[in-house]
Amino acid sequence: MKKRLVLQNVKTVDEQLNDIVIEDGIIVEIAQAGAAEGEHSYNCSDLYVSSGWIDLHVHAFPAFDPYGDEIDEIGVKQGVTTIVDAGSCGADQIADLRTSAEQARTNVFAFLNISRIGLKRVDELSNLDWIDMEQAVQAAHDHKGFVVGLKARISQSVVKDNGIQPLRLARILSYKTLLPLMVHIGSAPPDIEEVLALLEKNDIVTHYLNGKSNNLFDSEEGNPLQVLLDALDRGVHLDVGHGTASFSFKVAEMAKRHGIQLNTISTDIYRRNRLDGPVYSMASVMSKFLYLGYSLEEVVTAVTRNAAAWLNKPELGRIQVGDFANLTLFAVKQGHVTLTDSEDEQRVADRYIEAKGVVVNGSFITC
Ligand code: ZN
Ligand code: ZN
Repeated sequence: MKKRLVLQNVKTVDEQLNDIVIEDGIIVEIAQAGAAEGEHSYNCSDLYVSSGWIDLHVHAFPAFDPYGDEIDEIGVKQGVTTIVDAGSCGADQIADLRTSAEQARTNVFAFLNISRIGLKRVDELSNLDWIDMEQAVQAAHDHKGFVVGLKARISQSVVKDNGIQPLRLARILSYKTLLPLMVHIGSAPPDIEEVLALLEKNDIVTHYLNGKSNNLFDSEEGNPLQVLLDALDRGVHLDVGHGTASFSFKVAEMAKRHGIQLNTISTDIYRRNRLDGPVYSMASVMSKFLYLGYSLEEVVTAVTRNAAAWLNKPELGRIQVGDFANLTLFAVKQGHVTLTDSEDEQRVADRYIEAKGVVVNGSFITC
């Protein structure tokens, strides 16, 4: 007999009420609310549904400290059905990450660190010998489909005396593998203008709302730098990558004021910033963008359709009959909540998002 699951009275972000019927993990019907029945029916009144949330920047290799965590803790248990590990592993360990990904309930993809040692050390680009082109090309080839891009952390504490050189090598690797880059930005050197100049269409800048002095907005007026506007014209993608040190309310408010488009919201989550903040969870990071004045639809689109489009997997960003069910159920709660950024600045919001459950890979999991 077919396993049938009915989610009754779920609301999409455009306020449509529906029943969603899932059989053997596949969406077989989207009916008017109240029309569908089944043995396993859940009344989801007051809950929203979207396609499963996608977190484009996480650290999911638990063996590494500090930048590591358990896949399902930062995935399905917080409403995120798909995570993309942001360069925890290079060529040395990408196979191990893939093996553990295969055992998880969360979908996993990865950016391959251009340094073969990955985040085994936090200065992984301080020695150019660790950027082994041949090994990186081989790893990208061996893990095609799992590896969706290359990661290069281009900030002072990572590159040390190597300046812009690691990014030049990353660019060459991108041409050799035909994979886009995700570039972490932070303190100089190298200078942000030098970094942005090397990025091309579909490359990702993560941490674009960081509050460090080498960021993407001028320190006096808060205007976006010309290099940022030029990069956006070329089709460079902006990703939040909140993290412990990379999200500033002040900068996010400037970006909003200047109409810088919200592409993807990601957490840069790992054990410590999940347990002690300021990240906590995807829902918590999304709530910060609701606070900033983005609509619920814009916020949810940033973790669904926009991320799926970047991954070139549009099916992950939609709810459609015939597709594998890949859904997140969540609530928008009214009530005061204090939100803290990476600079220890606080804002008090009057509503927030809470993840309630997911349907993914044939299972219904509550958060
Ligand atoms: Zn980073
Ligand atoms: Zn990170």
